[in-house]
Amino acid sequence: MNFKNYDPIQALRDVQHFGEEGGVVPVVDVAATSTFLEPEDMVKTFHGEKQGCYLYSRHSNPSVNMFGQKLAALEGTEAALGVASGMAAISAAIHQHLPEGGHVLCSRTVYGGTYALFKNLMPRSGIEVQFIDMNDLAAVEKAITPETRVLYTETMSNPLLTVSDLGGLSRIAKKHGLKLVVDNTFTPVLVTPARFGADVVVYSCTKYLSGASDLIAGAIAGSAEFIASLIDINTGVVMLTGPVMDPRVAHELYLRLDHLPIRMAAHSRSAQLLAGKMKAAGVNVIYPGLEGHGYHKLLAGQLNPGYGAGGMIAVDCGTSLMAMKLAHALQDEKFGLYAVSLGFSRTLMSCPSVSTSSEIPEKEQAEMKLSPGLLRLSIGFVGNDEVMAERFLKCYRAVMK
Ligand code: PLP
Repeated sequence: MNFKNYDPIQALRDVQHFGEEGGVVPVVDVAATSTFLEPEDMVKTFHGEKQGCYLYSRHSNPSVNMFGQKLAALEGTEAALGVASGMAAISAAIHQHLPEGGHVLCSRTVYGGTYALFKNLMPRSGIEVQFIDMNDLAAVEKAITPETRVLYTETMSNPLLTVSDLGGLSRIAKKHGLKLVVDNTFTPVLVTPARFGADVVVYSCTKYLSGASDLIAGAIAGSAEFIASLIDINTGVVMLTGPVMDPRVAHELYLRLDHLPIRMAAHSRSAQLLAGKMKAAGVNVIYPGLEGHGYHKLLAGQLNPGYGAGGMIAVDCGTSLMAMKLAHALQDEKFGLYAVSLGFSRTLMSCPSVSTSSEIPEKEQAEMKLSPGLLRLSIGFVGNDEVMAERFLKCYRAVMK
């Protein structure tokens, strides 16, 4: 794909499917299985000798395929596949790349569930994962062994909001014949990892792609060959372990993708304003959209113009007790909701050291500079930004005095 004049909104606009009677949206195809008018066509389909027929929805489904086509257009990849959750997307992408086991280099600042999957479950399949500072490109290159197959990172890390140099990592991956797998959950639309050479992009669609905190889903985007390999009837990890996307969920996400760019811009606008006011008030705020942030320039160089720096902010309150106290006050003040997850239209708050990153041992949390008092805020766009900023600062002053 040529990314020269790439614009996420236009990429989405150019995907169009109609309902059966000419409806402006496609119908949901909930069938678990499809009829073959000619019995021999079923045999041919099973053996990959006939294309275009639907067999069984664990293999493929028209609604899931339509979502995949739209997501692939947004990502600038040849294909994409919806799956049951973000964890399913990560797990399938890694297992499909390492059928015989091997070595993965993973950023040490990743979502706690990803860390636990890599550390505790992957070795059972002969996959050894080494956690490393992905921003130290020389160290990454040095750590590559003959067994290494994959470099794994998050575009913007959960919850530290550090930013990966996707172009730099992709150059290393290509030089050593590795695949670069990128979790873009925090930055859909804002960053298009394939533009910088990512081979595979994974999403927790539970977050921004949904936007409504009402479903669990995931997706994998990449080459047509790789996406097809995931549903191969003999060796496909999604086909054979079965974490497929429900067609009703695929249909919902298909429709919601149209307003994802508008929602992302709105999240960014609210977060940028709030972070600016926090900084001016002396709050220990982390937001990559702020000029003083260590990864501001790196992020700016990877952003699609016009959608801002994202909706994720972190505030260091020193201790988890203080972070929880602040969140409690903010919830009472109707600033946000104390809940894990992110990407909702309303603000969600959590303290990662004791929740979504608690899988990472305290010593490693300290090594990766995850403060026990970090409060992660997924900034929503419902409400008046000025009023929300006032509410935050009122609570902050009261709790942190
Ligand atoms: N990736 C990131 C960055 C996440 O934050 C999460 C969940 O919080 C996941 C993956 C897992 O997604 P899911 O909960 O949809 O399985």
